[in-house]
Amino acid sequence: MSTARQRSTSALVARRAVNVSVSTRSIESMFEAGVLAVVDPHADESTLVARIAELEAVKSAASAGQARAAAALDALRRSNEAGAGVPAAQRGRGVASEIALARRDSPARGGRHLGFAKALVHEMPHTLAALEAGRLSEWRATLIVRESACLDVDDRRALDAEMCADGSKLDGMGDARVAAAARAIAYRLNARAVVDRAAKAESERTVTIRPAPDTMTWLTALLPVAQGVSVYAALKRAADTTFDDRTRGQVMADALVERVTGRPAEVAQPIAVNLVISDETLLGYDDTAALVDGYGPIPAAVARHLVSDAVVDDRSRATLRRLYRHPSSGALVAMESRARCFPKGLATFIGLRDQRCRTPYCDAPIRHHDHAQPHHRGGATTWENGLGMCERCNYAKEAAGWRVTATMDETGRHTAEFTTPAGMHYQSGAPPPPGPLDVFVSEVEARITVALAEFHAA
Ligand SMILES: [Zn+2]
Repeated sequence: MSTARQRSTSALVARRAVNVSVSTRSIESMFEAGVLAVVDPHADESTLVARIAELEAVKSAASAGQARAAAALDALRRSNEAGAGVPAAQRGRGVASEIALARRDSPARGGRHLGFAKALVHEMPHTLAALEAGRLSEWRATLIVRESACLDVDDRRALDAEMCADGSKLDGMGDARVAAAARAIAYRLNARAVVDRAAKAESERTVTIRPAPDTMTWLTALLPVAQGVSVYAALKRAADTTFDDRTRGQVMADALVERVTGRPAEVAQPIAVNLVISDETLLGYDDTAALVDGYGPIPAAVARHLVSDAVVDDRSRATLRRLYRHPSSGALVAMESRARCFPKGLATFIGLRDQRCRTPYCDAPIRHHDHAQPHHRGGATTWENGLGMCERCNYAKEAAGWRVTATMDETGRHTAEFTTPAGMHYQSGAPPPPGPLDVFVSEVEARITVALAEFHAA
């Protein structure tokens, strides 16, 4: 067996979507979903167009049904919890996450779905009816709810009636017109509330990052309008006063990088804690994609380029840290930790293994390294019982009725099972790290490796 391969080396950190398997219950008990997907192969053009329209109406009606079910689940849970003596402030916690899991959506969207459902069912009957009748899509109904969110209940009811009581008025209105009409009504009903909401929106300023095609990335800033305009104007000024062979867009992008990082755009970025690459890929023996923290996979050649740039440029800095993979499953099982600072080293390792929040579909960056089985219920501080979670999901799983168990099989593969208060089970596996897997080992060897890795990680 090759020791080099057994202890696959990597520079640091990565993230990727969590592998998810959901125990789906009784699809057959739902209405004839299969019938909806069938299209008559001999249908003529007008029949096909009518079919498309009909199915669109079914999607809207399904959204209305989901909204009613979500609002009913929330009410039922709260009344059950009231009966069980749960304090009022704690009732209904985690319902949004359950709705998200059921819809195969992120917990953040689950929160939006629930807010949408409660507003429609309890306060906006005309919008709900228009959705059910197929006059609004789920997204357009969401826009109306969003624009009415700053109003009190009476005004929201008034907006609901004015906007949707006569559903025929919605015909022909696109997303922008629906949002603008709702906003205009909200402003007329209560201008003060709309202005106050603008002030509150400022508190939501933020910067986010997401992958773009071709190894590029979108860096997005949500800013108050005056700041956003002045940042853009400053970059434009840089382009206006620079005369070289770069385009205006290139000059603006380079100026942004320089002013934010304090480093000229052409200097290689320090890549410590940025890149996970297998030793084989780094040395050019194979072309498995590497992973960049906060971005995702990048081609092997690009990764090697990043590393060699950082190594040869003394204005930059490259460091290497060894990660250990299980020889047969390829699961990350340990990390070299010179400092041996146990909790921090363990947290770093869990972050490397999980890459993103382990709740199925969540995808949020990891903020907490927490116990699957809580410490106060005897859960151990180990990498088997440890989970990378975002803040929201970590609090959600503390709510009554939630249970999370983490297990590792004999090949080091780590699985977390989430049980919700309604008794549903959802599993998420740690994503596979980069690098090829072509080593044969016996089961005994595998067990010894895992045991060694546990020893080293602790
Ligand atoms: Zn999460």
